Amino acid sequence: MQEVPLPLEPTVRRIGEQLARLSAGQTPTLFEGRWWSHQALNLAMQDSRFKAQLFRFIDVLPSITDDEQVVTLAREYMGEGDTTLFGTHWGLKALSATSIGARLSGKAIRSQVEHMARTFIAGATIEEAAPRLTDLWQDGRAWSVDLLGEATISDREADRYRDRCTDALNLFGRVTASWPPNPFLERDHLGSIPRVQLSIKISALSPHLDPIDPEGSYRSVASRLRPILDLAMRLPASLIFDMEQAETKTLLVKIFTRLFAEPSYKNYPYAGLALQAYHRETARDIETLLTWVRRRGIPITIRLVKGAYWDSDTIRYRQRGWPVPLFEHKALTDANYETLASLLLSQTSLIRPAFGTHNLRTLAYIEAVAESLKLLPLKPGNIR
Ligand SMILES: Cc1cc2nc3c(=O)[nH]c(=O)nc-3n(C[C@H](O)[C@H](O)[C@H](O)COP(=O)(O)OP(=O)(O)OC[C@H]3O[C@@H](n4cnc5c(N)ncnc54)[C@H](O)[C@@H]3O)c2cc1C
Repeated sequence: MQEVPLPLEPTVRRIGEQLARLSAGQTPTLFEGRWWSHQALNLAMQDSRFKAQLFRFIDVLPSITDDEQVVTLAREYMGEGDTTLFGTHWGLKALSATSIGARLSGKAIRSQVEHMARTFIAGATIEEAAPRLTDLWQDGRAWSVDLLGEATISDREADRYRDRCTDALNLFGRVTASWPPNPFLERDHLGSIPRVQLSIKISALSPHLDPIDPEGSYRSVASRLRPILDLAMRLPASLIFDMEQAETKTLLVKIFTRLFAEPSYKNYPYAGLALQAYHRETARDIETLLTWVRRRGIPITIRLVKGAYWDSDTIRYRQRGWPVPLFEHKALTDANYETLASLLLSQTSLIRPAFGTHNLRTLAYIEAVAESLKLLPLKPGNIR
């Protein structure tokens, strides 16, 4: 284990300022399609009431077929809101006084929301996503695909999710085979990394995922994971378990370690899982995983994220009178993320650290630790 030298703050600042300079000018203008989603998301980050109303609105939007009703609904959910967001761009004030205006505004709102969805979703189908992934690769960027899935309630749904995963692996395997080599994206300190990386939502693979039945949960999930994993080994592709609601965390970590210790899979080098910095137990989970990896002898990927279920998990635990297992202040999650990032980066012989964040300070911190540990990025010039 390498010690992270302190203090890092001046380096974090330097890298942060550099990143800020590089991203300056990337903010969309009013005349660009992405302006609205950018503004709406910024506002949602600052105002939790607006965030809740925005997502409620997006939730019901697909079921509204009438454009005039879309405008009425936008008003009901978000009021007149921020004048620039709702007044200028959607033209609500100017246009919706007449029924033609309301129809035009309704169309505009629908198209902006669809645009926002496209910011996060590469395609409605895997075929639709493939060209965007090719563009990313040609632009010098690697990717990881997450097939959107919900907790399933039937075996048929779980089978369908398994089939979507194998279809995606097959298609991406075919598409990526003709891509030009890019050593910067295909090698790291532990060797080669596959072009195809699939993130999997374990709860979508079984209607029986239940922490009080670990054995039944394992049988149900593993039987659908094995065909996906067999294919990933042949291609090869890397598989990352997404981390989900707090109550399934321990179960998912156990499924991960049990599956990747099975004789057929114990040498698979591209297994990974996401861990959430907002969870108070994550440092302990990483230590447990490190001990397990030492025994297994083959590294894994740990993708550190802050966690996407904070609102729903916190509400559910509080509602039931249970102690909340997550940090309850954002600053504590941020601080824990930094501690855990240092821990991961100090263990690169056992794990491939991966970081899922859009936060500039967090990104600068990760870079600063990597720099202090002399973990140089693999540029074409310094590949071993
Ligand atoms: C490639 C990738 C993969 C991902 N995979 C997963 C996954 O498998 N599972 C998953 O859960 N998430 C996943 N995420 C989402 C991730 O957890 C974050 O929600 C998201 O990236 C926002 O974090 P940030 O650092 O970019 O933003 P920031 O704005 O810095 O942080 C927002 C995060 O802070 C935390 N937070 C907010 N308010 C509070 C509070 N009051 N108290 C404590 N903490 C708070 C929450 O985690 C919130 O998401 C993934 C993200 C990426 C980019």
